Amino acid sequence: MRSITKFDLQYAHRFYKFQGEAQYLHGHTGVLTIEVEDSIEPGVNMVFPCNEIQKVAWNVLKNFDHALVLREDDPLLPAVLAVYEKQGIRNGAPSNKMKGEPFRTELATAYPEARLVVTKETMTVEGMIKIVYDLLKDKLNIARITFTSGVNAATQEYTPTKTIDRCPLCGVALVDGVCPKCGYKKH
Ligand SMILES: [Zn+2]
Ligand SMILES: [Zn+2]
Repeated sequence: MRSITKFDLQYAHRFYKFQGEAQYLHGHTGVLTIEVEDSIEPGVNMVFPCNEIQKVAWNVLKNFDHALVLREDDPLLPAVLAVYEKQGIRNGAPSNKMKGEPFRTELATAYPEARLVVTKETMTVEGMIKIVYDLLKDKLNIARITFTSGVNAATQEYTPTKTIDRCPLCGVALVDGVCPKCGYKKH
């Protein structure tokens, strides 16, 4: 069975060198849906508590919210960074509190202090799905990711290969056989 969780992400981006209006900087509310598949943990009668999926995923997804997403070769990147630098906000500001965990993968690098994500490929809805899967595939048993942004939407199915040991009392993933939330130990 599947547990399904949705996230809203407000971000700005552009399709550098794309022949259309999307080559201009603009913003979206993107809706990301993550479907997690596993057996039902009988203790809690759930696949995975949706608030736990929220927590695990939001740690990294926060980087895309109220953020600027630019491709690594986009000349806007040094231009924006120069302005942030001049204004003294490139390395953070007191009001910049909702920061995600910094990450660097093959496909994207997050700079939470500057609310910036630099991508290898253009951040289309398809591109975002590839980035998110890569970031979360080892943490969640992802069966499908869907991303919609404006009139664009894409979805990708995955075959989950493992089953995650979960706490029969609260449903969260066990870490080395111990529940990080309630201390339950698997014998
Ligand atoms: Zn767009
Ligand atoms: Zn527990």
